[in-house]
Amino acid sequence: MGLLDRHAGLLEVYRANRTAGQVPVRITMDKMLSPTEAVIDGRRVVTVGTHNYLGLSFAPECVEAAVAAVRAEGTGTCGSRIANGSFSEHEALEREIADYYGMNECMVFSTGYQANLGIISTLVGEGDYLVIDADSHASIYDASKQTQATIIRFKHNDPASLEARLRRLAKEPGNKLVVVEGIYSMLGDTAPLREFVDICKRYGAYILVDEAHSMGALGEHARGLAEAMGVLDDIDIVVGTFSKALGAVGGYCVSNLPDFEALRLTCRPYMFTASLPPSTIASVRAALKLIVTRPQLRERLWDNVRILYSGLAAAGFRLGPEPSPVVAVRLRSPEATIHAWRALLNAGYYVNVGLPPATPNGESLLRCAVSAAHSRSQLEGLIDALSDVAHRLGLIEHSRLQIAAAE
Ligand code: PMP
Repeated sequence: MGLLDRHAGLLEVYRANRTAGQVPVRITMDKMLSPTEAVIDGRRVVTVGTHNYLGLSFAPECVEAAVAAVRAEGTGTCGSRIANGSFSEHEALEREIADYYGMNECMVFSTGYQANLGIISTLVGEGDYLVIDADSHASIYDASKQTQATIIRFKHNDPASLEARLRRLAKEPGNKLVVVEGIYSMLGDTAPLREFVDICKRYGAYILVDEAHSMGALGEHARGLAEAMGVLDDIDIVVGTFSKALGAVGGYCVSNLPDFEALRLTCRPYMFTASLPPSTIASVRAALKLIVTRPQLRERLWDNVRILYSGLAAAGFRLGPEPSPVVAVRLRSPEATIHAWRALLNAGYYVNVGLPPATPNGESLLRCAVSAAHSRSQLEGLIDALSDVAHRLGLIEHSRLQIAAAE
């Protein structure tokens, strides 16, 4: 048996799909033209499948800051912060993010994935309990494999289910850490955070919120769902990413927990990997300033969310439960979804695909990520193209039948 033989089944499915055309997991952007346009296979397409929620990846302020940082400090840090030292910009960014959240401590990571992996797996250990939403992101599930804590899942977004789990643990001596997300990346639904916070308080559990998809989109100062729901002061740890609203790459975590800086000495995904390059730090600092000073970016994002969500709903599609920067179109099968995705790409629109086992309840999804930088005509073009594809593939009827069955 060869080293890769156990992947043979998956590879066969992948190759069969590859023969039939483009596959979502191997798409190449020959060139990015703007936050909302790319060249794929030599053709110009509208991108509605990158999480560039505020369109900042091309903001002149961010680009210029990154270019200046490359010229001043080089292309990379060439090592980790514990071995090579931090650049002063790492610390400046950490101070700025901590101040933005009104928290004492911030740690910056090389990706949001590593922030979740490192923080969650280091905060809880043997004798503790990690209590996670069943629809958690892969980085949260992977953190649960890295810790000695006991893992307990509760039903997605279900306060009663969380409460039942914590009630059962009430007499156990270990720490309990509850992990939820602000906006869930597959269906774009938000967590009932007030209820979760209330339950955690009653049972003495800590709560961590991953605001990867909600930072930049929700709350008076765009700090995320916790701010929007008025419970930021009750959250023990916020994790986020630089790869979505902030238009770059990297992750962060903020907290008021005393002695939080101990994690700088124990959190392996922080300690044993190269730190972010000066250009990224500089562009993120510029992006954070734009988020703070230009609330109109957020307003434009939500105007666009409403255009796409209401347009697709009116066209008869079954969507995620609430308007959100992630607009998920629910289709009947993985095959139909890949067909629709390809047809949409041929029509000049790039969206994401969500398939089982990565999706809740084995759903098959076309996922659209809305940006403040989309024009009305780009979004209306997508609605028309998707409606056309769905009629040709017989998907709208199916969607309507499902709506009728659900009513
Ligand atoms: N958390 C959630 C909820 C995510 O959706 C993602 C990325 N899609 C991450 C964390 C990881 O972020 P990053 O891309 O910065 O690694």
